[in-house]
Amino acid sequence: MTVHLVGAGPGDPGLITARGLELVRACDVLVADVLVSQELIDEAPEDAIVVSRAGMKQEEVTRLLVAYGTTGLDIVRLKGGDPFVFGRGGEEAIALAEAGIPFEVVPGVSSIAAVPASALIPVTHRGVSDRVTIASGHGADGDEPDYASLAATGGTLVLFMGLERVEQLCRGLVAAGLPASTPAAVVSRGTLPDQESVSGTLETLAELAAGLESPALVIVGDVVAVGAGLAAAMAVPAIA
Ligand code: SAH
Repeated sequence: MTVHLVGAGPGDPGLITARGLELVRACDVLVADVLVSQELIDEAPEDAIVVSRAGMKQEEVTRLLVAYGTTGLDIVRLKGGDPFVFGRGGEEAIALAEAGIPFEVVPGVSSIAAVPASALIPVTHRGVSDRVTIASGHGADGDEPDYASLAATGGTLVLFMGLERVEQLCRGLVAAGLPASTPAAVVSRGTLPDQESVSGTLETLAELAAGLESPALVIVGDVVAVGAGLAAAMAVPAIA
């Protein structure tokens, strides 16, 4: 095995898997995503080659993995959350497979449910929501998502990469038929010490979320109200 595509978890370094950490501690080369915490990068052996992908295009990262992959060294490609959830891990895996380089995928705790949970929002809840749709906050070419199909799912929506366009997202969902009173939240830097979250409705969310930092998830649906109720019941300041 030469290249390990490893999920680092959603932010808190304690949320990497035991297997992921074991691989980081034993690697020769670590290629780390921008979202990966420094504590995890520091777990690599002292003599390991550590490459940050900051400033690199995806094509360059993929080329680098293929190049290192031919050396026989033990390479860990450490990616935020899960490598196969909006992580372009699939593209890296295809390039490695095409180059005949052995690889494995080590799943990670994706932000999908972990980040809502860090703000006490259960993505499914008996009697409230029995389905979750995850989607990018923008379409394939950076254009608007397909609001009509998102509004029609009837369950929880978890929107990635949507912080910069919360206002358009909320407006688009309302125009597509969701009530303006639908509960909605933004969770910024979930599971990290400086996590912040706001909870409101599709009508109020954009204003509430102004000034929040990325990475952030937008969560839409009645489960958000369950989270707000839980937070109030526990009197924890998880939701402002
Ligand atoms: N592979 C990752 C997702 C990478 S895409 C995973 O499985 O979680 C990056 C997007 O994920 C960000 O724009 C944001 O929407 C979301 N995200 C990742 N980590 C987050 C965190 N700690 N808090 C809030 N959102 C996060």
